[in-house]
Amino acid sequence: MRTYLLKFTVIVFFIFISTEIFSQTDSEKSKATEVWEPVPEIITPGNETNPPSDAIILLGNTGMEEWEHKDGSAPGWQYQNGIMTVEAKIGDIKTKRKFGDCQLHIEWRSPKTVEKDGQARGNSGIFLQGRYEVQVLDSYDNRTYSNGQAGSIYKQYIPLVNASKGPGEWQTYDIIFHAPRFDENKKLESPGYITVIHNGVLIQNHVEIKGSTVWIGQPFYESHDLKESIMLQDHGDPVSFRNIWIREL
Ligand code: MG
Repeated sequence: MRTYLLKFTVIVFFIFISTEIFSQTDSEKSKATEVWEPVPEIITPGNETNPPSDAIILLGNTGMEEWEHKDGSAPGWQYQNGIMTVEAKIGDIKTKRKFGDCQLHIEWRSPKTVEKDGQARGNSGIFLQGRYEVQVLDSYDNRTYSNGQAGSIYKQYIPLVNASKGPGEWQTYDIIFHAPRFDENKKLESPGYITVIHNGVLIQNHVEIKGSTVWIGQPFYESHDLKESIMLQDHGDPVSFRNIWIREL
């Protein structure tokens, strides 16, 4: 008797649910999948000269106060009117602040006067978390190994296309970075990912980072904090930077 009662209840329940579903209008059915919360924060988008309103300015018109050398000393690179230029052999610089997942905008310019070739022409680099390099190089009419040209994830990923502008022209990188995660035993929990848009063109599409950038050998991960400094490379060439801003994700 009990089983019959249970079956009966279940059947009635399903009839009730189906009539509820079928009696809904299309508009009501659509509403069932609408999500109203959270409401995205309103920001003012940037343009050619201004960053978005919620960005942290890492290099603007006020100097190099966001930057330092590895030992914490003030950066010995040149700075004038918002433009920062590598001072050869002075050393890499890094942000005082530390970042994890982020959207990074950076403008760079290789020297107008072309002197050398390959890796020796306008070489610098943006090292996310001080480890993962998006190569900066004058790759305009300058052949080098493909996984070391401008926009490569150095020695890991070749850019999808070469979107380089000529020497002396300003170029943009818009980088979306997802930081790797490590567990309490310092083991890799999930790798990092990187997307790069070069001069408005997608050149790295959410590629999985293989480990810290190395010049020789294979990359491998070394445990680090979720947030780390961004480093700019002194490779001996007077590469310039301007309008650097970041949005934490
Ligand atoms: Mg480099």
